[in-house]
Amino acid sequence: MTAPLRLRLDSAALISNWRHMAKLSGSAACGAAIKANGYGLGSRGVAERLAGAGCRDFFVATWAEAETLADLGLSVSVLHGLRAEDPLDATYARPVLATPEQVRRWKPTGRPCDVMVDTGMNRLGVSAEDVGAGLLDGLVIETLLSHLVSADEDVPLNAQQLAAFAGLKGRTQAKRMSLANSAGIALGADYAFDLTRPGIALYGGWQRPGHDAIRQVATPEAQILQRRLVRAGESVGYNATWIAGRDTEVATLNLGYADGYLRCFSGKGLAHADGVTLPLIGRVSMDLTALDVSALPSLREGDWVTMAYALPETAGLSGLSQYELLTGLGPRYDRVWI
Ligand SMILES: *Cc1c(COP(=O)(O)O)cnc(C)c1O
Repeated sequence: MTAPLRLRLDSAALISNWRHMAKLSGSAACGAAIKANGYGLGSRGVAERLAGAGCRDFFVATWAEAETLADLGLSVSVLHGLRAEDPLDATYARPVLATPEQVRRWKPTGRPCDVMVDTGMNRLGVSAEDVGAGLLDGLVIETLLSHLVSADEDVPLNAQQLAAFAGLKGRTQAKRMSLANSAGIALGADYAFDLTRPGIALYGGWQRPGHDAIRQVATPEAQILQRRLVRAGESVGYNATWIAGRDTEVATLNLGYADGYLRCFSGKGLAHADGVTLPLIGRVSMDLTALDVSALPSLREGDWVTMAYALPETAGLSGLSQYELLTGLGPRYDRVWI
């Protein structure tokens, strides 16, 4: 059974965005962050398409996320490391070790791992001092990682983290080094090292000027459940926040805040049908949203509308981050790759 709500996913745009980030990565390999279910798009669909385009390195947050990809035979790294509850013998992924305790637990396996070094985020990672003191000696390290705090801004911390990470070159047995996320790739070739890890840019997000090459990938489409005439003076939706100034044709959509279309879109969101822009009216409810469709007399019950969802613009409109806009998209969408 099809849902009254779908997420249209553009394969060509996803691959084009990855190729663009790969080009900006220069001689470094270009991986893909596919945590949080591929930023809400569906991690399997994303991973299969990017692997087909030549991507070889994938990053998820947890072992549960990695397990859902086990049969694809990809190189998957688990960014949240290795808790005591996590498997020491899983063959479908390797941990990004982040604490001395995790290193001690993994070392006896003799198996390859990645390691996160903290250079200023103070979130996850071993310290450069611990690395200098030999913490990682005897580990088989595929990739040494660190993560940028403010890659989307021009601040001195970027160069400081770059210098701290570059200082670890040749100090470990790691085959490769990796620092840059999407915004970090845009900081320049110095930041690419051997492997880059873009996420948001692959899915159409961009936080720096000049993002023309990045294409929108995910577009919510909602079905109209009812069309009605609302008389001047009547209200629409909870708390009657919108009152018709004149007779208005209103369509009720199968889309709400439980689908990640949050209340901050109330009175601000936009939809499109047949090239016409349709404004959202009243409050977004849990499962329903209302549109003024007076401009489109032909639009009727059962028809579909496309929500305006270009990430940089929609983030500006809603106050949500580009990441929240994608990762909040819930399970009720049919995810349809075209
Ligand atoms: C999420 C994440 C990325 C990708 O970041 P984007 O800003 O989405 O490009 C890269 N590296 C690490 C460690 C991450 O957690």
